[in-house]
Amino acid sequence: MTHRRFEGETLVVASHNEGKVREIRDLLAPFGVQTVSARELGLEEPDETGKTFKANAELKALAAARASGLPALADDSGLCVDALEGAPGIYSARWAGPAKDFRHAMERVQAALDELSMTAPEERRAHFTCALALGWPDGHVETFEGHVHGALVWPPRGDKGFGYDPLFVPEDHDVTFGEMAPARKHAMSHRTEAFRLLIKSCFEA
Ligand code: IMP
Repeated sequence: MTHRRFEGETLVVASHNEGKVREIRDLLAPFGVQTVSARELGLEEPDETGKTFKANAELKALAAARASGLPALADDSGLCVDALEGAPGIYSARWAGPAKDFRHAMERVQAALDELSMTAPEERRAHFTCALALGWPDGHVETFEGHVHGALVWPPRGDKGFGYDPLFVPEDHDVTFGEMAPARKHAMSHRTEAFRLLIKSCFEA
């Protein structure tokens, strides 16, 4: 499959989350790509009305590309729990409520698993997904997805990560993402996998 390559000098990072913008800037720096964030351009955030991570990443990337006239990169990610039919999934951020309280979001996940009496690790399988979309003003979009599989523990452990990290033990490990040094998590994360595919397909010579 041939992918459209990013040929310009400036890329819009279609996120209002400063942490994500910084991470994306750092990852693209070796390719000589200048980035400007959606916030710096004063772009509005579209409603995330898609039903999948891919659809939401694409609608965010295309809205920013059309509004700015420049290629734009967006990501959408979350935690999917097998026994909860993939919940919280695309609603992962929303489960934390307006206060972005992830202790509360983790308690909601645990309460839902408790209700189903899911206690054994094999009944508590989950994965993180990250979809990255690179969109152009003419409506073309390239999308890449990364996953990392594991199981959820209770109570939460570790304070090194963010979001649902303290619940998640990746396959073949016994510590949570919250207990891991960031570099160790990044070496295996869903976001890194999606980035690797994006770079290989759209940025590398
Ligand atoms: P988004 O900003 O709409 O893509 O929301 C993604 C949400 O999914 C975040 O707010 C986190 O709660 C959760 N999430 C995504 N990736 C991770 C991760 O690597 N660790 C922990 N939580 C994550």
